[in-house]
Amino acid sequence: MMEENGASVQERCPLGVTILGSGSKGNCTVVHYGRQAVMIDAGFSCRETQRRIKECPCLDDVEFQGILVTHEHVDHISGLRLCSQKLEAPIYATLPCTRGIRKKDPKITQVANFVAGGRFTIGPFTITPFNIPHDANDPVGYIISVDEWRVGVATDLGYASSSVEYQLRECDTVVLESNHDMNMLAACNRPWGTKQRIMSREGHLSNVSTAQLLERIVSARTKNIMLAHISMDCNTQEKALECSGQALSALHRNDVALTAARQDTPLETVWLGK
Ligand SMILES: [Zn+2]
Ligand SMILES: [Zn+2]
Repeated sequence: MMEENGASVQERCPLGVTILGSGSKGNCTVVHYGRQAVMIDAGFSCRETQRRIKECPCLDDVEFQGILVTHEHVDHISGLRLCSQKLEAPIYATLPCTRGIRKKDPKITQVANFVAGGRFTIGPFTITPFNIPHDANDPVGYIISVDEWRVGVATDLGYASSSVEYQLRECDTVVLESNHDMNMLAACNRPWGTKQRIMSREGHLSNVSTAQLLERIVSARTKNIMLAHISMDCNTQEKALECSGQALSALHRNDVALTAARQDTPLETVWLGK
C-alpha cells in the first residue's frame, strides 16, 4: 500500500521481462515488478551481468529476490555464485541440479531446493517450475506469475512434452527457445556427435520445431513470444523470427508481439499491464 495525497492506493505495477542476453555463451533473464525482481539463470560473469543491468534503465535500483536456475550447464550458471553474493539474491534449484552446480562450483553452498510441479513464492512472484526434456540433471522451465499475469520461460529443451505445452498455453508472455536452423546445423563444421546431441530429444528446439510448438501453445491469452537461445553459428535472428512469424500468421495471430533475444546485448523489455 502506498500513501498518495493522503489517500491510500494499491500499488500495482506493470510486469516486465528483460532478457539480458541469451545463447550458448550465456543466458540471463530478469522478470521484474516495480523494484522487485527475480533472475532466471546467471550465465554471464557477475561483472558482465551488472554491466547489462545498468544498460537497462527500468532495472535501475531493482532488488533481486532470488536467482532461479533452469539447469547446471555452464551457459546458465557461470556467474551464479558471484551474482548471488553481489545481488544478495538466494539461489533456487532442484536437488539434482544443485548437485550438478556444486560439481562445477563447489564453493556454492546455500541453495534453496524445490521439486518440479510444486509451487512457491518469492516476494510478489508465484513460481511454478515444470520439467523439461534436456540432457542435464532434472532441468526445469518456470512459470512466474504476479497479479493476473503469467510469464513462461522454456529454453534448452529437445521437444515439448504435453506438460510443457500445458504450462505455456496459459501464459501472457512466453520466453521460448528457437535454437537452430536445421540446414545451418547440418552444414556447420561441428563434430557429428555434437550435432546429434543438439537434434536429440534432450537437445534443443529447431526453428521449425519452435514454430510447430507455437501452433499448440498460442492461446487467446498469448500476447508476447520472446525467442531465445538462438545459436550464433547455426541460426540467425532473422531466420528464427521468420519461421515463428509464419506460424503466427497462419494462426491469424499477428497481434502477438514476436521478438528475438541476442547473445551480445539485452533485448528491449516486454511489459504486461503497461
Ligand atoms: Zn543453454
Ligand atoms: Zn543446456
